[in-house]
Amino acid sequence: MKLAERSNISPSLTLAMNTKAKEMKRRGIDVISFAAGEPDFPTPDHVKEAAKKAIDENKTYYTPASGIPELKELVVKKLKEENGLEYSIDQVVINSGAKHSAFNALAVTVDEGDEVIIPAPYWVSYSEMVNILGGKCVFIETREDKGFKITPADLEKAITEKTKVLLLNSPNNPTGAVYSKEELYHIAELLEDIDIFILSDEIYEKIVYDGREHVSIATYSEKIKEKTIVVNGLSKAFSMTGWRIGYTAGPKEVISAIGKLQGHSSGNPPSISQWAGVAALKSDCSFLNEWVSEFSRRRDYIVENLNSTPFISCSKPEGAFYVFPNVSETFGKEFNGYKINDSVDLANYLLEYGKIATVPGKAFGVDGYIRISFATSMENIEKGMQRLKDALTI
Ligand code: PMP
Ligand code: GLU
Repeated sequence: MKLAERSNISPSLTLAMNTKAKEMKRRGIDVISFAAGEPDFPTPDHVKEAAKKAIDENKTYYTPASGIPELKELVVKKLKEENGLEYSIDQVVINSGAKHSAFNALAVTVDEGDEVIIPAPYWVSYSEMVNILGGKCVFIETREDKGFKITPADLEKAITEKTKVLLLNSPNNPTGAVYSKEELYHIAELLEDIDIFILSDEIYEKIVYDGREHVSIATYSEKIKEKTIVVNGLSKAFSMTGWRIGYTAGPKEVISAIGKLQGHSSGNPPSISQWAGVAALKSDCSFLNEWVSEFSRRRDYIVENLNSTPFISCSKPEGAFYVFPNVSETFGKEFNGYKINDSVDLANYLLEYGKIATVPGKAFGVDGYIRISFATSMENIEKGMQRLKDALTI
């Protein structure tokens, strides 16, 4: 029997590399993984306690498909106090992770043949989500020397009659680019009178460096807010990747459609995780200062080391916990019997020979780069950087 066209899906390379590294470790191979897309800190204790309490209090039944009002209210409060965005409770829906948030937001906005503008490099799942939904990806290639950011001029060229959504992701995975308020507002100015949705994935908002500030494009004006769908969640800010809680805020019709979609597809996000989420959003978040300064220390170390590694150059990420070094000089060369022609060859060589797991740039729509996550201990980073140097020394 033939499967549906939409089953023709590329696997998530970020998850695949991570799983491969974990499998090698299980087999006793000493692999250092730079593939992880999740903070290496444990979920805060008070969040874990809240989940245990929820189990003991039998909060283990179905909840409304769009999430419990207690959590939605805290999301409304968070968006107002931290992002300067005012929403009513019916403009917020809880999802099973931010991946689910992004997919559902696209599912209720993108029709067959609609164009979705995606600045590249982009997070691996966006393009596949659009493909699954029958939409058409329109990529805008950003440049490293321009900080991997799009400009209004780039955007103007990419917009057509068929454009339905612009996908923005700041802080960015995989480049670490963080759009300043000014940069975002220039983009917003162009979009004010253009009839498209802006899907703003703000999952890394808390992880920004050197005094930078995360800004949501939706703050530009009421008109922009009315077309922006804000996606966020607890995975990165509270180290809760396995708990699967994301949320979406936006126009009432969009949010209501997502609620109905969930009612027929996933059902409610996990009840226990939602109660844990209530505790998370009530936190004072002081632990984040420590996490961000530890990430920042690792970032500095890693960037310095990469820039003294043969054939590699690396600019400093402004946010998130990834570096995206340029490795194009390794292409066409041979290392220890391995011929390198692209970022996939390099990532495979580094895994097999160097025993370090990275994610090839191809997963993010650009060859010439690899992604190295620094959501791992300083000890691993020190060892891993040495292995990288050894592997690339001819
Ligand atoms: N957006 C981006 C840019 C991400 O890197 C991730 C990481 N998985 C997600 C969304 C999804 O996060 P979650 O684990 O909450 O589904
Ligand atoms: N977002 C993370 C990453 O990019 C987690 C893996 C995934 O969900 O794709 O590695």
